[in-house]
Amino acid sequence: MSKVKYFYDPDTLSYRKIEPKKSRKYRNLTFFLLGSAIFGLLGLAIILNTPILNTPRELSLQRELKNYELQFELLDKKMEQMEQVLANIEDRDNNIYRLYFEANPIPEEQRRAGFGGVNRYKSLEGFNNSEMIIGTTKRLDIIQKQMVIQSKSLDEITKLAAEKEKLLAAIPAIQPISNDRLTRMASGYGWRSDPFTKARKMHWGMDFTSPKGTPIYASGDGKVTRADNNSSGYGKHIRIEHGYGYMSLYGHLSKYNVKAGQRVKRGDLIGFVGSTGRSEAPHLHYEVWKDGDRINPINFYYGSLTAEEFENMLKYATQENQSLD
Ligand SMILES: [Zn+2]
Repeated sequence: MSKVKYFYDPDTLSYRKIEPKKSRKYRNLTFFLLGSAIFGLLGLAIILNTPILNTPRELSLQRELKNYELQFELLDKKMEQMEQVLANIEDRDNNIYRLYFEANPIPEEQRRAGFGGVNRYKSLEGFNNSEMIIGTTKRLDIIQKQMVIQSKSLDEITKLAAEKEKLLAAIPAIQPISNDRLTRMASGYGWRSDPFTKARKMHWGMDFTSPKGTPIYASGDGKVTRADNNSSGYGKHIRIEHGYGYMSLYGHLSKYNVKAGQRVKRGDLIGFVGSTGRSEAPHLHYEVWKDGDRINPINFYYGSLTAEEFENMLKYATQENQSLD
């Protein structure tokens, strides 16, 4: 307890107690600290943007913003699904459709080419959520471009498909004589023993045994380029050009039913089986040419045979027996 001091007050003509200066100091300090604390808390509240100071309007705006952010997240998820579906379509486009119609696949870079040069997202910059909005816009832009390219690709394929129908009609895809039980397949394409010399020799076609006069049919749409006896070994023979690099040849005929220059459809009767030229017995020697090379005709009967029949034919055709030439 400090000493109590007095002083004479001339106004009241009495002695009065002198208040200790220290306590006033403490009081001032307390006020100062309290004030600082209040201002500090206020400052902190503003910095942290805690809702204690927000007006109802601000609160509702904040809720709206949160809702937008959530919706953006959901849109992003949906875009992800779209991207997956598109990627799947592009994959099929490149690896099935374009391949099937012999068109070059569209390279990945072209499908997803960036948007270089001008910054087209400048107007979206400078906001709290700019990153989110630019990201979403960019993804949508890329999806849009992918769709345009995909759509163009399908247009192209539609055109090719129309052409392909012509091609499919042209390919020599059926057997050239009626061969229901496949019993007429005598010798296939491959190494066979020569009927005359008995030496092993490449046999470039398929032989079908048949009595003289059996009808022979065109195996695909095309134009008869030759029907004559001027090719060594084949005897009386017919050649049909089908276009797209395909040609079919029918040898050892007894009689023609068409002339050079005539157009034929698949299945048209073109001639009759015989044994002219280098032939051991009446039979049809049949060849398929692609781009100037002879290829195995058995690969073209898929259209007219069941799986089982094809299997059987394959068995007959691959037996290494003697050809009839
Ligand atoms: Zn032959």
